[in-house]
Amino acid sequence: MAGDVAKRVLVVEDNELNLKLFCDLLRAHDYVTEGVRDGRDAVERARAFMPDMIVMDIQLPHVTGFELITQIKADDGLKAIPIMAVTAYAGREDEDRIRAAGADAYVSKPISLSRFVDTVSTLLEGAIGAPVAEVVAEAEVEAEAGESEAQSTAEETAVAAEPEATADVSETDGDATP
Ligand code: MN
Repeated sequence: MAGDVAKRVLVVEDNELNLKLFCDLLRAHDYVTEGVRDGRDAVERARAFMPDMIVMDIQLPHVTGFELITQIKADDGLKAIPIMAVTAYAGREDEDRIRAAGADAYVSKPISLSRFVDTVSTLLEGAIGAPVAEVVAEAEVEAEAGESEAQSTAEETAVAAEPEATADVSETDGDATP
C-alpha cells in the first residue's frame, strides 16, 4: 500500500476485547481505525470520522447493529460507506435481517482473522452492490497461520467472553415474548 492514503475504518463493538482485537488487526494491515464502544455514538462518530468503511457489531446494548445500519443507510452523507456486520449468530433469519438493513457483507463470530481482513479489503476495493457476502468462519480460529500468539489468544478470549450475546439474541428475536 505504499504511496496510498491509508483507508479509514470505524469499528463499532461494545466488547472491549473484541474492539481492541479488530482495531489492532486492522492497524497491522495499515488501516487507520477509530473504535466506538457505545452504539448510541456511532452515527455521530461516523459523521466526524468519515470512514471509508464501517465494521458493525450487531449485538449492542441500547441500540442494535441492525438499527444503526438502517440509520446510516438512510443518511445521505453516510449511505455510500460500506458496512461489514459482525454477528455472533447467523442463521437464515439473521442473514435476511442483515441484508434488509443494508449491510454490504457480514462475518460470523468466532471470526477468522484472515477472512475478516479479506472482507474489509474487498469492501474497500469497491465491490459494493454485490449480494451480501456470507463469510462464515466457524472453528477456524486455530487454523490461522501467520498471526501472533498474542492475537490468537486475545481472539479466543474475546469471543468466549461476550456475555451479552445470549441476552441480545432474546432481545432482538423475542418480539412476541415480554
Ligand atoms: Mn456485542
